[in-house]
Amino acid sequence: MAETVLITGAAGFLGSHLSDRFIKEGFKVIGMDNFITGDSKNIKHLDSNPNFSFIEHDVTEFVHVDGPVDYILHFASPASPIDYLKIPIQTLKVGSLGTHNLLGLAKAKNARILIASTSEVYGDPLVHPQTEEYYGNVNTIGPRGVYDEAKRFQESITMAYHRFHGLETRIVRIFNTYGPRMRLNDGRVIPAFMGQALRGEDLTVFGDGSQTRSFCYVDDQVEGIFRLLFSDYSSPVNIGNPHEISIRDFAEEIIKLTGTNQKVIYKDLPKDDPMQRQPDITLAKELLGWEPKVGRAEGMRITFDYFKNLTEEELYKSEHKDFSKHIKY
Ligand code: NAD
Ligand code: UDP
Repeated sequence: MAETVLITGAAGFLGSHLSDRFIKEGFKVIGMDNFITGDSKNIKHLDSNPNFSFIEHDVTEFVHVDGPVDYILHFASPASPIDYLKIPIQTLKVGSLGTHNLLGLAKAKNARILIASTSEVYGDPLVHPQTEEYYGNVNTIGPRGVYDEAKRFQESITMAYHRFHGLETRIVRIFNTYGPRMRLNDGRVIPAFMGQALRGEDLTVFGDGSQTRSFCYVDDQVEGIFRLLFSDYSSPVNIGNPHEISIRDFAEEIIKLTGTNQKVIYKDLPKDDPMQRQPDITLAKELLGWEPKVGRAEGMRITFDYFKNLTEEELYKSEHKDFSKHIKY
C-alpha cells in the first residue's frame, strides 16, 4: 500500500512543489493549508488526482487527520519578510503552536516529521558562509524576530520531541529559494523585481544593494528535502545554492533577462536585513550526495516565463495581499 505524507502549507510555493514530487514518487499526499499566504490555484492541477486530498485548516488549531500518516512535512508559515511583518502574531503562532500540534500528530501516528527551518535562524550572520554549527545573530525584539525566533523555537521543540519521545525528526534550513508559483505580490525580491519589470516600473533596491543573497531553484531545493527526509540524520541541514550575488547586481541581471530598460531606484533598507547570506553545503553534499544543478540563468528564465504568463489582473493585483479575513485574533 502507498505510504501517506501530510504536507502543511501545501497551497504555498514550496508546499505545492513538494506535493507534486511526492505524488510523482507514488505517495498518497494530504495537503493542508488555510490559504493565508498561499493560493488554491497552486494545487488546482491536483484536484482530480486520486492520490491527493486536501484539508483546509489552520494548523495553529488542533490538527486531526483520519487514518495512517507515515510522514509529515511542516511547511506552513508566512515566508516573505513583507508577509510576516504584516501578520507577526500568526507567524509566531504557526512556528510555535502549529509545530507543537504537528509534532503531537507525528507522535500519535508514529510518523517521521520534517520541519521547514530557514537561513534566518542565523539572523544577520557574523560567520560567512553559514555552517550548521553557527548559532546565529538574531535580534529577538526586532521586526524580523517574529519569524526568526518562531523558527528557532521550532527547531528546539523538534529536537526536544526527538530526544524525549524518540520521534523521527528532520530539520531543513532552507536558503532563499525561488521558482514558479511564488506569489507575485509577496514582496520577496524575485517576484518583486519581475513584477516591476513586467509592469514597466523601476526596480526597487533596498539600501545600497550591497547586501548579498544566494538563490536556489525550487527543483534543487525539493530534491534536497526529499533526500533529507529519507536520510537518518536528525540535526539541521542547510539546503541552498552557494552562488552569491549582491542585490544591486541582481537587479541589473533581471533588467537584462527581462529585456526591459527600467531604472534601479533605491529605498530604505528594512531593519535587521541580513547583509550577507551564503549557505555552506558541505554537510548536504557529504550526507545526501546533494548539490544544486540548476544555475541562476536557467532558473530565472523558467521563473520569468511563469510570471510572464500571468493574467493582466494578476499582474496588477493590489501591491500586497489583504490578510484581514484570516486575522481572527
Ligand atoms: P508560501 O507563503 O508560499 O507558503 C506558505 C504556506 O503556508 C501558504 O500556502 C500559507 O497559506 C500556509 N500557511 C501559513 N500559515 C498557516 C497556518 N496557520 N495553517 C495552515 N497553513 C498556513 O511560502 P514558501 O516560500 O512556500 O515557504 C514554505 C516554508 O518554507 C515556510 O515554512 C518557510 O518559512 C520555509 N522557507 C522558505 C524559504 C524560501 O526561500 N522559499 C526560505 C526559508 C524557509
Ligand atoms: N529587496 C530589495 N527590493 C525589493 C525586495 C527585496 O532590494 O523590492 C532586498 C531585501 O532588502 C533583501 C533581499 O532583497 O536584502 C532579499 O529579500 P527577500 O524579501 O527576498 O528575502 P530575505 O532574504 O530578506 O528573507
